[in-house]
Amino acid sequence: MTDKLLNSLRVKPGSTVEVSKHDTRATFGWDKDEAKAELQEVVARIDVLQERLYAEATRSVLLVIQAMDAAGKDGTVRGILSGLNPAGVSVTSFKAPGGRETQHDYLWRVHEVAPAKGTIGVFNRSHYEDVLVVRVRNFVPPAVWRKRYDQIVAFERLLHDEGTRVVKVFLNVSKDEQAQRFRDRVADPTKRWKFREGDLEDRKLWPQFMKAYDAALSKTSTAHAPWYVVPADRNWVRNLVVAKILLATLEDMDPQIPEPTIDPASIVIE
Ligand code: AMP
Ligand code: MG
Repeated sequence: MTDKLLNSLRVKPGSTVEVSKHDTRATFGWDKDEAKAELQEVVARIDVLQERLYAEATRSVLLVIQAMDAAGKDGTVRGILSGLNPAGVSVTSFKAPGGRETQHDYLWRVHEVAPAKGTIGVFNRSHYEDVLVVRVRNFVPPAVWRKRYDQIVAFERLLHDEGTRVVKVFLNVSKDEQAQRFRDRVADPTKRWKFREGDLEDRKLWPQFMKAYDAALSKTSTAHAPWYVVPADRNWVRNLVVAKILLATLEDMDPQIPEPTIDPASIVIE
C-alpha cells in the first residue's frame, strides 16, 4: 500500500509535472486520528533505523523540503523529527544568501552543511531556491539559472555516489489554503512573527512560482534523487506522507550495526 502510494507521488525521471494539477487535499482514505497515531509508529521505526545508520557511520540521508510560504515546512520538520535522537539529525534553514555566501557559487553554502556520515540532514529550503525565487524574481539572468538544473543533478549525483541518499519533497499547498494560513498568522499574536509582507509579494507571483516548481521538479527528479509531490493542505496528511518517504528511504538503505571488533567473551568488566 505504502509503496504504491509513494510511487504515485514520485515524479518519474524524465516526466513533466504540473503541480497545480495535483490534489492538495488528498487524504488517501486515512482518518485523522489514525494517521496521527500511525505517524508516531513511523517515527519510532525511523528512530531505530537512524540509530543503525549512526552505528554504521558510512552513509547519510538528505531530505530536501521545498514549498511556498505557510505550506508547513517548519511543521513537517517538527512533526517528523520530534522523537528522533537529536545527535543524529541536522536541520538547515536556508534564507537569502548574505555575507560570505554571496562571494561564492550558489552550491558552496549547501555542500558545507550536507549531512555527515551516519546522520540525517534536513534542508528547510535549499539550493532549489536558486532556480525558484531566483528565477521568478530575476535575481540572475536566465542564461545563468538555466544551467543550474544540470548542475544540481550533477551535485546530487556526487552526494549519492559518496554515500548520501537524497530525497526531495515539494509540499503542495493550494493558494486558498495559503490565504487562510496567512490570515491565521496575522490574527494570532503567537504566529504573527512568521509573516512578512514579502510573503504577499511572493503570493502575487504564484503562477510564476508554480511554473518554476514545475520546471525544477521535472528537470531534477532522478533515480538517485527523486522528487515527491506531497499534498499539504492537511497537516496530518503531509506529515505522515513525508515520514513514510523518509522511512522508505531508510528501509531501502537497510543500515547495519557493524560487526563487533571485540570478542565479548574476552571482555572482563570489573
Ligand atoms: P522563510 O523560509 O519563510 O523564513 O524565508 C526565507 C526566505 O529566504 C524566502 O523568502 C526565500 O525565498 C529566501 N531565500 C532562500 N534561499 C534563497 C536564495 N538562494 N536566493 C534568494 N532568496 C532565498
Ligand atoms: Mg516566509
